[in-house]
Amino acid sequence: MNNKENQISASNRLDKAVGLRDKWCGEIGVGDIGEKVTICGWVAKTREHSQHLSFVDVRDRSGMIQCVIDSVVDLHSEYVVKVSGQVTRRPEGTENVELETGSVELTSCEVEVLNSSETPPFSLGKYSEADESVRLRYRYLDLRRSKMLNNLQLRSAINHCARNAMVEQGFTEVETPLLWTPTPEGAREFAVPSRLQKGSFYVLPQSPQIAKQLLMVAGVDRYFQIARCLRDEDLRADRQFEFTQLDIEASFVTMHDILEIVNHVIRKIVMVVRQVEHLAIRTMTWKDALENYGTDKPDLRFGMELVDLGEVFRETQFRAFQAEVVKAIVVEDGASLSRSRLDQLVDRAKELGALGLVWMKIGSVGVPGNSSSPDHPNSLEDIISIESPVAKFLQDHEKEQLISKLGLSGGELVLVVAGEHRSTCEILGQLRLELGSRLANEANEDALEFVWVVDFPMFDGTDEAGNLQAAHHPFTMPHIEDLELLEINPKAVRSQAYDLVLNGWELGSGSIRIHSNEIQSRVFKSLGITQDQAQERFGFLLSAFRYGAPPHGGFAVGMDRLIALLAREDNIREVIAFPKTQSGLDMMTGAPKALSKRNLQELGLNVGPKPN
Ligand code: ASP
Repeated sequence: MNNKENQISASNRLDKAVGLRDKWCGEIGVGDIGEKVTICGWVAKTREHSQHLSFVDVRDRSGMIQCVIDSVVDLHSEYVVKVSGQVTRRPEGTENVELETGSVELTSCEVEVLNSSETPPFSLGKYSEADESVRLRYRYLDLRRSKMLNNLQLRSAINHCARNAMVEQGFTEVETPLLWTPTPEGAREFAVPSRLQKGSFYVLPQSPQIAKQLLMVAGVDRYFQIARCLRDEDLRADRQFEFTQLDIEASFVTMHDILEIVNHVIRKIVMVVRQVEHLAIRTMTWKDALENYGTDKPDLRFGMELVDLGEVFRETQFRAFQAEVVKAIVVEDGASLSRSRLDQLVDRAKELGALGLVWMKIGSVGVPGNSSSPDHPNSLEDIISIESPVAKFLQDHEKEQLISKLGLSGGELVLVVAGEHRSTCEILGQLRLELGSRLANEANEDALEFVWVVDFPMFDGTDEAGNLQAAHHPFTMPHIEDLELLEINPKAVRSQAYDLVLNGWELGSGSIRIHSNEIQSRVFKSLGITQDQAQERFGFLLSAFRYGAPPHGGFAVGMDRLIALLAREDNIREVIAFPKTQSGLDMMTGAPKALSKRNLQELGLNVGPKPN
């Protein structure tokens, strides 16, 4: 957890307080000295100094102020109070630098108790020690903590900024239904039973994908929505059943246009939240991302790129390196790692599916011909010292080439994996992340490395029936120049799909869509979706496409992840007001719950006994 305040809170000054009060607690400063003010809020702390003097810290969503009361007061934590007092400079030596209002206090205070409070189950300080399940159970108290209120304010400011940036670019905000029909994202869906059409179900949308494409057929041309999406998937730190996307679709555009539209939004947000001007957003092909970083979501806050050693070991006698690919990463200063740490890395690589992991500690790397005695030209061992369980199997020229290919100068640790291409890249990519991201965080915890990954393969893996699966979704347009490969070599077809990645987190994805029925039928065929199945699932979309569908494409930015990263949180639950636990429970309401017999009857549902 980071102790930096979100800068947004400073720039997000509150309007003049009205109602029962005339000042926000956190806004009182030396400029107000001498003024009589009234604040409202919660008692954060009380200290009785003597029978005639008490100090009470009162906080609201803007911050906290110390109130001096000339008597003993019966106030406890989280009591709701209204305090009127005079803004006074604190006596010298008693200022509190931790507090924004720490140079002043309210004196001669009159206190009105607006409500009492039970003792909260955990302390509401900025950094709560409480277990997350307790925080979620009493979320309304957890959210009262300044860090959480700041996160909510940050979220609101980012949404506001995104909305403005979209409107600025001529987009129209359209709300699409939540009671909907299956959409093509491919996750498990939530179903809602219909009371009026017993036995039939709505499906909660995994995204507004189909609706937004229909809006393009309708001629809306530029659509956006800050949309709730629902997917019944296993939950993780970066996943919730319901999440928010900035959902975008535009007509008569190319991939380049969509990237620029999204870049504009991202730059605006980062400008407001982090005051970064001219944010660099890179672009990389999926192939390069896999080749150099071993993943389609590269964390570019640090180097440690994967290097292909195919050339070096092309004719090697060492059996383990006689593989489809041999790749390595270099850990700077890694030669000092202990034997047990190296064993752990080997185990980890095996856990990730590698046949093995070869480590090499690079001792010294000298310059050939630099021997002190010209009669004794230095041997390879003088020039390069490699400590590795496999050193004895490597030829001298292989060692030399390895050193020069990896640009080694001594002190490094080289980790080598050999095997099938994709899995080798992915295993090394994972090791790179595990070894490098901590260092990257230490080097610059504020780094924001955005990158577009483009030219994804059209298909990725197969389903249980052996049919190819769409890497994005079935409406994604293949690269026009790859269309001829669709039937003969579908795995080589690239799609016009693109992902936006920030610091190794996938922020969202999008694509140019298929608007021609002919191409759509061919793609469905490649996916093993029959005409009848397509008609049954997406028939209404396919018929809409017969009435002049314009070329179109879009994108969706996962707002929870973006906000979490900008709030310097590593879990999206920290930026969601009422999230579910990892097992999908709502600790506060107890949902999901059983329905009464009557409810079930009304919905035409017959539910068996609850499993234990
Ligand atoms: N509907 C897609 C998703 O939610 C995004 C898009 O293609 O626009 O991932």
